Amino acid sequence: MAAKLEPISLADIPAGGAFLLQPLGATTIHAPESFTEEQRAYYRTARQFLEREVMPHVDRLEKKDYPLLVELLRKAGELGLLMIEIPEAHGGLDLDRTTSMLVSEAMTTYGAWSVTVGGHTGIGTLPIVFFGSEAQKAKYLPQLATAEKIACYCLTEAGSGSDALGAKTKALLSPDGKQYVLNGVKQFITNAGFADVFIVFAKIDGEKFTGFIVERTMPGLTVGKEEHKLGIRGSSTCQVLLEDCRVPVENVLGEIGKGHKIAFNILNMGRLKLGVGAAGGCKHAIDEAAAYARDRRQFGKPILEFGLVREKLARMAAVTYALESMAYRTTGLIDAKLAAAEGSGGDSHERVIGALEEYAIESSILKVYGSEALTFVVDEAVQIHGGYGYVEEYPIERAYRDQRINRIFEGTNEINRMLVPGMLLKRALKGQLPLMEAVAALDGASSAPAAAGSLAAQAEAAEACKRMALFAVKHAVETFGTAIEERQEVLGAIADVVMQAFAIESAVARTRLYGEGDPVREALCRLLAYEARTTALARARHALYCTLPVEAAGAAVERLEGWGRFAPPDPVADRELIVQAIASQGGYPFPIR
Ligand SMILES: Cc1cc2nc3c(=O)[nH]c(=O)nc-3n(C[C@H](O)[C@H](O)[C@H](O)COP(=O)(O)OP(=O)(O)OC[C@H]3O[C@@H](n4cnc5c(N)ncnc54)[C@H](O)[C@@H]3O)c2cc1C
Repeated sequence: MAAKLEPISLADIPAGGAFLLQPLGATTIHAPESFTEEQRAYYRTARQFLEREVMPHVDRLEKKDYPLLVELLRKAGELGLLMIEIPEAHGGLDLDRTTSMLVSEAMTTYGAWSVTVGGHTGIGTLPIVFFGSEAQKAKYLPQLATAEKIACYCLTEAGSGSDALGAKTKALLSPDGKQYVLNGVKQFITNAGFADVFIVFAKIDGEKFTGFIVERTMPGLTVGKEEHKLGIRGSSTCQVLLEDCRVPVENVLGEIGKGHKIAFNILNMGRLKLGVGAAGGCKHAIDEAAAYARDRRQFGKPILEFGLVREKLARMAAVTYALESMAYRTTGLIDAKLAAAEGSGGDSHERVIGALEEYAIESSILKVYGSEALTFVVDEAVQIHGGYGYVEEYPIERAYRDQRINRIFEGTNEINRMLVPGMLLKRALKGQLPLMEAVAALDGASSAPAAAGSLAAQAEAAEACKRMALFAVKHAVETFGTAIEERQEVLGAIADVVMQAFAIESAVARTRLYGEGDPVREALCRLLAYEARTTALARARHALYCTLPVEAAGAAVERLEGWGRFAPPDPVADRELIVQAIASQGGYPFPIR
C-alpha cells in the first residue's frame, strides 16, 4: 500500500473542478487508506461514543427527550468531539478537515444525532469561527466547544428556502445606535428547541443581508412549536420568531451587507459533510442488510444465497466505495491546500474559506451523489429486510425515513445540480479553469484513447464520461450562449455526467494508488464503472436531445455512443467477489479502523 500523502507545493494541487480536464492519475489523491493514526483514533472515539452513549437511548431520543440529548451533547463535548474545528486559542482543537469529516462520518448511524451535532458544530458554530470578531470568538467559542451553549443557524424563511437571499427578516438600527431591532420568522431551524446561540440572517434596512449572533435570552426571540417530521424525529426543528428582538450592535457577524458570504461558505462545508456522512450511512445500511441476509432463511436457505440479494449488496457496496473515494479525495485536497498555504501569511480562517470555495464544485457533487447513493442503498437494505424492513423494531425502518431529508437541506439537489455546471462555466469565464480549451480539443480527440495500467477499461470509462460531459457542454454553450442558465434540464443532465465521471475516476484512482491487485477493490471499480458509464451515456444523450433539433441530436449522439461503448466486465463474477468480502467482513468490506 502507498504511504500517506506527502505535502506538495501549492502549485501542484489541482484546482477545483480540474478533475474533469486532467487525465486520471495526474495527481496523487487522499483516501481512507492514507488516514493517519491520529485521524483514525478520532474516528474510533466518535464511533465508540455513539455506540456506547447514544445508541442505547435511541427510543427516548426519538420521543424528543431534549434534556437527555443536551446531556449527551455535553458528554461528546467533554471528549473533544465537538471542538475539532474551533481554534486552540478559543478552547478548541483546530484539527484538519479530514479529522472533522471522520468524526462526522462516525456519528451517522443515528440520523437525528448526526443532524443535531451538525447543526451545532457546523452551521451553528462555524460562522463564528470563520467570520466572528476576536471578541465574539472569545465570548462564544469556548462554551460552544464543550456544548455548554448550543448553536443553531437561522437562514430559511417560509417565503425563502432555496432563494435564501430573498429573506424578509428586517433589522433596523435603534435611535441610540446601540442595537439592531430584528423582525421576522425563520423556518425549520435545527436545534431551535434547546439552542442558546442563534446565527440569524436579516436585511438591515430591508436591503443589506447581514449575519447576527442572537442569544436565546435576548428580548423578542421566541421559539415556535416542534415540527412533526417524517424522519430525524429525535432532532429539534422549529420556527424562530423575532418580534422587535433587540440585538447589540457588537453582535453583527462579519461585514454589514456581506451575509451571503457567511451563508454560502457555510453551505460549502455543510455539503461536504453531508456527502461524507452519507458514506457512513451507506456503510451502516450495508452492515444491517448483510447481517439480516445471513440470518434470514427462506426456501430452506439464507436469503444471502439468492442471486438478486447478492446483486443488491454488491451494487450497494460499489456506490459506497465510490462515494467514500470522492469524499476523502475532496477533504484531502482541502487539507493539502491548507497545509501548503500555511505560513503564507494572512488570516487562517480566510484560507479555510478560500479552500472550501475552491472545491465548491466537488462539495455540490458530494451533496447530490451522496444523498442519492444513500437513498438507493437504504432503500435496497429495506428491500432485503422484506416486511421486517417496514416495521419499527428494525433500525433500517428509521434509517429509511431519516435519510430522506438529505436531498432537501443544504441546498436541494436541484439547486446543487444547477451549481455544478454553473460553477464550472463561471470558473472557465474567470480564466480559473481551461474548460473551453478542453471542449475545443474534443474535435481532435479519437473516440477511444487507450488507457494503460490496471483497471485500464475503467480508467477509460472515466475519461469517456469526461468527454461526454465536455461534449454536452460544447453543444449547450454553442446553442444557448449565456441563456444556458435558463436550460435547467440540460444543466441537470450535464451535472449527472460530471458526477459519474468524478465517481469512477475517484474509485479507480484510489484503487490504483492504494489497492492495486486487490480483487475486491478491482471488482468494485468494474461494477461501478459498468453502471456509471451507462448512466452517464443516458444523461449525456438526454442533454443533447434537449439542446439540438432531433436530426442534429441524432448525429451528435452517435459520437457520444462511441464513447459509451465498452467491453462489459463479468458482472456475476464481480458480484461474487464483492459479496464474499461482505460476508466474511460481516458488512462493508473496508471499514475504517
Ligand atoms: C428537518 C429540516 C431541518 C432544516 N434545518 C435548517 C436549519 O437548521 N437552518 C435553516 O436555515 N434551514 C433549515 N432547513 C430548511 C431547508 O434548508 C430548506 O427546506 C431547503 O433549503 C428548501 O427550501 P424550501 O423548503 O423552502 O423549498 P423550496 O425552495 O420552496 O423548493 C421546493 C422545490 O422547488 C425546487 N426549486 C426551488 N427553486 C428552484 C430553482 N431555482 N430551480 C429548480 N428547482 C427549484 C426545489 O429544489 C424543491 O424541489 C431545514 C429543513 C428541514 C426540513
